[in-house]
Amino acid sequence: MPNLKKYEKIAGKEAIESIHNKAERLANKHIVFINSTYQGGGVAELLNSTVILFNEIGIDLGWRILHGTPDFFTITKKFHNALQGANINLSKRKKEIYFETNKRFSSFNHLDHDLVIVHDPQPLPLISFYKKKQPWIFRCHIDLTNPNTQVWDYLKTFLKKYDHFVVSKNEYKKRLKIPQSVIWPAIDPLSAKNKTTSGEVIRKYTSKYGIDLNKPIISQISRFDKWKDPIGVVKVFEQVRSKLDCQLVLLGEFALDDPEGQKLFEKLEKRTKESRYSKDIRLISVANDFLVNCVQRASSVVVQKSKREGFGLTVSEALYKGTPVVASNVGGIPLQVIDGINGFLHKPNETKCFSKSVIKILKDEKLRNELGKNGKEHVKNNFLITRLVLNWLDLFEKHLGK
Ligand code: UDP
Repeated sequence: MPNLKKYEKIAGKEAIESIHNKAERLANKHIVFINSTYQGGGVAELLNSTVILFNEIGIDLGWRILHGTPDFFTITKKFHNALQGANINLSKRKKEIYFETNKRFSSFNHLDHDLVIVHDPQPLPLISFYKKKQPWIFRCHIDLTNPNTQVWDYLKTFLKKYDHFVVSKNEYKKRLKIPQSVIWPAIDPLSAKNKTTSGEVIRKYTSKYGIDLNKPIISQISRFDKWKDPIGVVKVFEQVRSKLDCQLVLLGEFALDDPEGQKLFEKLEKRTKESRYSKDIRLISVANDFLVNCVQRASSVVVQKSKREGFGLTVSEALYKGTPVVASNVGGIPLQVIDGINGFLHKPNETKCFSKSVIKILKDEKLRNELGKNGKEHVKNNFLITRLVLNWLDLFEKHLGK
């Protein structure tokens, strides 16, 4: 259970005082977050830390999970993919299942809160089934750089009923009549995933998973999702490994609202087994926050080779631990990785450039330390959960202040 006082050392006294002052003005307000999973992926990660902190500072923030069938989640994953630019056959049947699932949930999900905040498109249509008594905010975590217009236009029919639209980056804002804001996602520096850990504990813990700390580690830690391009990471690793002795750790999990994960995992498993460097690849599929922490700390380089990325919390998680990141310059990643300062950025398909940057970092300890130091500082200044709480408090006040 977090205790706000404990964040003072990391976030500074001023930030904590500011949180308390703002929260006081909103004391006992009853707010609810609605999304579609409590486990797997960045949204669940964010909400898990945020809801606890809000309750601790005296804001009565609840968290509800939309109930859906596998069919529903197959459709909403297709919407998600289309919002990130993929094609879709937006059939009447898909729209019906989407709409009816939300309608069904609304019949037993009673909302008498002062403010309702809906995260991501799965529960977006809920607003259609309530007599609106309070402001509603839609918070979209997806990379909206280039959405499929058919899907975006369809979702907009629901979005326009909301009072506010929140995205992760300025460039994701759209032509809409409702107000829009940017709130950057953030990491919780005190969670099991990010808390400081000794080298000895890291060594013991990683060895349980067959990771050998005597060899440099390159890792990517991500849900098994085609947008994260894990097979592309294997290709980068093979190029690096042909020049240097090192190992690759691919650590991943499955999100409860993403039905595509298993198929991708099987494809990846086959590809890693076929690699001429298969004995140096660890493909690990467990949901384990502390293991994520240890792997990010033990890595010499973290790779994030996403083709699209709403924000990419894994990037800040690695940077905060002083590990340089070589990543794609897509979506929210360039907010976090400053090319040449705390890591390197490349176009997602520039496999050779990725491997060159990884080799450069592996070969140069001084560079590695310099990038690591800058990364930690950048995250502390911009992507800590205390800043995110402050941003939300400002938005709550805008809608609830007298
Ligand atoms: N994650 C995890 N275990 C894994 C893989 C990922 O806990 O095996 C976490 C990761 O540490 C991060 C979140 O899942 O906190 C992923 O968030 P991100 O924004 O990077 O991507 P998303 O999955 O939301 O697309």
